[in-house]
Amino acid sequence: MALALYPGTFDPITRGHVDLAERAARLFERLILAVADNPGKKPLFSKEERVAMSCGALAHLRNVEVVSFSGLTVDYAREHGVDVILRGLRAVSDFEHEFQLAGMNRHLAPMVETMFLAPSEHYTYLSSTLVREIAAFHGDVSSFVTPNVADQLRRRFGPARHHD
Ligand code: ADP
Repeated sequence: MALALYPGTFDPITRGHVDLAERAARLFERLILAVADNPGKKPLFSKEERVAMSCGALAHLRNVEVVSFSGLTVDYAREHGVDVILRGLRAVSDFEHEFQLAGMNRHLAPMVETMFLAPSEHYTYLSSTLVREIAAFHGDVSSFVTPNVADQLRRRFGPARHHD
């Protein structure tokens, strides 16, 4: 299995996503982290910002590249010779949606397998949505995102307030 694709919104990329990419980078020859355009989701950060933040967060991984795409994940996968679509499973709550997506993708592109990886337990409760909410209320997100992403969040929402 040479080439894996890790698609997502990455709005923004979190340490949970990075953890998954690190695991996949050890398992596959190459990994493409693909930032979905997803205008329907009304992301906080533009596609370009999400790509730049993801590049910064993954710079230590030599066999990982970051791209953006629009349209169906399976179309991108087929056009680029992808063997495996990678998704993360944090908890049972992720399962239903991810299972449905994997089934639909298999229907559309039977040769592309979906594989799931679980993050380190530290990141089980972590989501981009929560990170955005904490940052919007000036909470400290430094344990949830890499420093380059924390900088972007501060730029967007202002500095974290430390409560004691
Ligand atoms: P999407 O909009 O496609 O769900 P996300 O950026 O939210 O995009 O997530 C992309 C993938 O990464 C999904 O499979 C999601 O389950 C997984 N993921 C999100 N957060 C984490 C985390 N903390 N640990 C492991 N996987 C995660």
